[in-house]
Amino acid sequence: MTREEIMKIVEEENIQYFRLQFVDILGHMKNVAVPKSQIGKALDGQMMFDGSSIDGFVRINESDMYLKPDYNTFCVLPWRNKNGRGVARIICDVHKADETPFEGCPRVNLKRVLAEAKELGYTMNVGTEAEFFLFEQDEKGRATTITNDVANYFSLDPEDSGNDCRREIIETLEKMGFEIEASHHEVAEGQHEISFKYADALATADNTVTFKWVVKSIARQYGLHATFMPKPIFGVNGSGMHTNQSLFNIDGTNAFFDESDPLQLSPVAYSYIAGSLKHALVCTAVNNPLVNSYKRLVPGYEAPVYAAWSASNRSALVRIPASRGLSTRTEMRSPDPSCNPYLALAMQLNAGLDGVRNNATPPAAVDQDIFSMSNAEMDEVGIKVLPGSLKEAVDELKGSPLAKETLGAHIFEKFIEAKEKEWESYRIAVTNWEIEEYLNVY
Ligand code: ADP
Ligand code: GLU
Ligand code: MG
Ligand code: MG
Repeated sequence: MTREEIMKIVEEENIQYFRLQFVDILGHMKNVAVPKSQIGKALDGQMMFDGSSIDGFVRINESDMYLKPDYNTFCVLPWRNKNGRGVARIICDVHKADETPFEGCPRVNLKRVLAEAKELGYTMNVGTEAEFFLFEQDEKGRATTITNDVANYFSLDPEDSGNDCRREIIETLEKMGFEIEASHHEVAEGQHEISFKYADALATADNTVTFKWVVKSIARQYGLHATFMPKPIFGVNGSGMHTNQSLFNIDGTNAFFDESDPLQLSPVAYSYIAGSLKHALVCTAVNNPLVNSYKRLVPGYEAPVYAAWSASNRSALVRIPASRGLSTRTEMRSPDPSCNPYLALAMQLNAGLDGVRNNATPPAAVDQDIFSMSNAEMDEVGIKVLPGSLKEAVDELKGSPLAKETLGAHIFEKFIEAKEKEWESYRIAVTNWEIEEYLNVY
């Protein structure tokens, strides 16, 4: 999209407010709104903000930062139109006061990693599947964990009472340019999935943060609280964010597809899988960044626990979905929707590419149910267990030169600092579980 095309839409749609958006290191979307009179200045990348107020960005003495908009991310916000007065948004890169890109901006960082992949001759394509719950709100509008239905996998109305809300989310996303592929009720009560078409990794990271925001905003209009918390309810499925990944060659063909192979996978695909598995433990802190993420990565709920791959098996960390040709892809099943997609995709791409750079060979595929294997059987085929807590995951991350290179020193350091603080706060908290288990017994 060009500046002229944006200005034309601003006039046609009577856009009165323009939101400049960016994400912080933890993946939270931030925005500053400017009135119509400032849109030209904003589009020219001349809007400044105080970076020292954003966690993990910069110190107070270097706080002036620029927002540099990416014109391709411009869109009108259908649900914000009031009495014919419209609102639009644009996603920005953060630049420093000297106008050079800020290495602590996750979007700037992902672009750097994608440019390195391009030098090797590849575009990374990704499709994310962010699952979510719709919960009721209490009389004061606060979130509860009461689900608004008693439906299950693929249920239809009237059991699936999230139907109307989901439809409105889909129609809103379509107006914003998303190509929706499918939507359905998920396994747990109140749990949903809406899948949209894959794109290059940068566009998908933008789409993923936008998707989460739209889901939450529309749910609110239906009196519901949408959450992407990985495991809001004990004893039922949590919410994952599978990332479907493929490398495309510069001529637009899928570098993972090779008709002559028994599984129709190319040597590049096998090496990519090898890299994904080799660095799976290291990527976990970024893919699963909350204390709560590790309550999801347990046996029995369709979430992976072991680092293995399979062309059929949904208990494996890396599944190869059945489609071939342009749709040939790996599905990384461990990430959850609380991750910062800009960081998670950078890590996953560089892990896979490390395998490609080194012509790595993956271990044998594991087509049996891994949860039924004994420890000895797992050891025999070299299956590693994913970290069991945020603490273990951060320790894996800390020891990885690949992670430091992929995230850049600034993000690497600030991310670890934030996560260690979060772990410490959890470690010393007294939880309901402890009260229930110990208060009467001791
Ligand atoms: P599942 O079988 O796990 O439910 P879905 O059909 O919900 O999978 O989602 C598949 C995702 O994979 C979609 O976002 C789709 O656009 C994406 N996808 C399809 N082909 C590719 C590809 N070549 N590279 C990356 N993602 C792809
Ligand atoms: N909700 C499951 C998870 O936690 C995934 C279900 C699915 O395969 O769609 O990963
Ligand atoms: Mg699903
Ligand atoms: Mg999936």
